[in-house]
Amino acid sequence: MCKKNAYQTFKKENKNVKVSESKFWALKPKHVVPLKKGKFRSCLCEKCINVELKLKALNNKVIANKIPSKQSIKTVANKYEANKFTICEVSKGEDPKLQCIQRKCQTCGVKQLENHFHELGVIANTDETVNWYQWETKKITEPKVSTRKVLASKSTYVKDLLQNLTEDMTEFSMHLFLANWQYRQFSNLKEKIPKNVMVCIMDFAENFSTRYQDECQSAHWCYDQITIHPIVCYYSDALGKTVTHEVVYISNDLTHDANFVDHYGCSSQYKSKVPFFDISSYAEELDGIKVERHFFGSGHGKGPADGCSGVVKSAITRGIIAGNVLSCAEDIFSFVTSDLTKDGDTFKRTFLLIDKKDVPRSRPLRSEAVTVPGTRQFHCVKAVAQGLIKTRRVSCTCVVCLDIEQGTCINNTYVDEWVEQTLTNDLRKLNQKSKSKKQKVGKKEK
Ligand SMILES: [Zn+2]
Ligand SMILES: [Zn+2]
Ligand SMILES: [Zn+2]
Repeated sequence: MCKKNAYQTFKKENKNVKVSESKFWALKPKHVVPLKKGKFRSCLCEKCINVELKLKALNNKVIANKIPSKQSIKTVANKYEANKFTICEVSKGEDPKLQCIQRKCQTCGVKQLENHFHELGVIANTDETVNWYQWETKKITEPKVSTRKVLASKSTYVKDLLQNLTEDMTEFSMHLFLANWQYRQFSNLKEKIPKNVMVCIMDFAENFSTRYQDECQSAHWCYDQITIHPIVCYYSDALGKTVTHEVVYISNDLTHDANFVDHYGCSSQYKSKVPFFDISSYAEELDGIKVERHFFGSGHGKGPADGCSGVVKSAITRGIIAGNVLSCAEDIFSFVTSDLTKDGDTFKRTFLLIDKKDVPRSRPLRSEAVTVPGTRQFHCVKAVAQGLIKTRRVSCTCVVCLDIEQGTCINNTYVDEWVEQTLTNDLRKLNQKSKSKKQKVGKKEK
């Protein structure tokens, strides 16, 4: 409900109360907040939400069953607490041990969380059922075959729900660790950006429907869609101050593939064979500029780029409400350029308009790119030569890993060695041949 509607509804329901709209809002209780100030929960991570949903259902069951002798044992408040049950204890601010989160430790494991719920008497009665929810991917056939995320309602035995949560928890400690670690590496780097280094944050390109203020009903069916793709860049100026420069691409191109991102420049938009091939090509194409791409933990990449596109989208909406005609990419581009361009000492914002016909989609060699096995597991990629990249499971932004100083990486208990990966079948065959040759030579020498 908008502010005006809330006031009108109040007037309708309380005809005898005389209050002006401004007074009505001045008397608003503190806990009533405008929507934009409320927590924006719709972009939370699916894995995290599912764990929280299952915990909630189990906790409710514990409370409902209430065993008097177990009153002192606490329910599991949230995902972080659930995670703590499954790993060995560490001091505050310390990362959990790698062997614990990889579930290789003999002392800890998901069983501990399961046992805790058993102690709470969650399965006092074995044929008791429970209702719970989880987000799932559902296949749909209408209007065309695709997949959609749905909140599925379940009714199962309590023990099956507990089993289901336990299964989720197996990979969950690693999930939370990666989300935390990757974000921390970014924060460390952003705090003190070395000379000649630029940090760029890219998020998924987003579609935005244009609208008209006084639209006739049929206008609902002929919205123009545009793409907003923000890139937030950070670098140090001559005095060592961090400069934030937001570069926002506005386009009528709605195909959010790797060609788009490379030309402008989302998970498969950024993390798959074609973008990897692009990174490998930068070694030669970008004239000596070294490019590394790091990935936030899956589901946990919402950040500065998201904030930037939020600013742009709400400005467009405000512009339309104010009566501006913003019906296509060109309109929107000139509106936001005049309204939101910034050129301060430490904060800049620039807009660029890209026409779909200018995005090259048949680029040389890209069609030959093949998938790198285990793509999901790594969070860091850098170029070696065209068709050749190096990958790492987790990122590190220490001075050694940034090639600023020589020595050993301070994070080497968590950070693995770089692994070379080939991106075309031809290169892979060549590599195998040279490897087997080396092996033969090695055997002869013995
Ligand atoms: Zn998560
Ligand atoms: Zn352990
Ligand atoms: Zn390092």
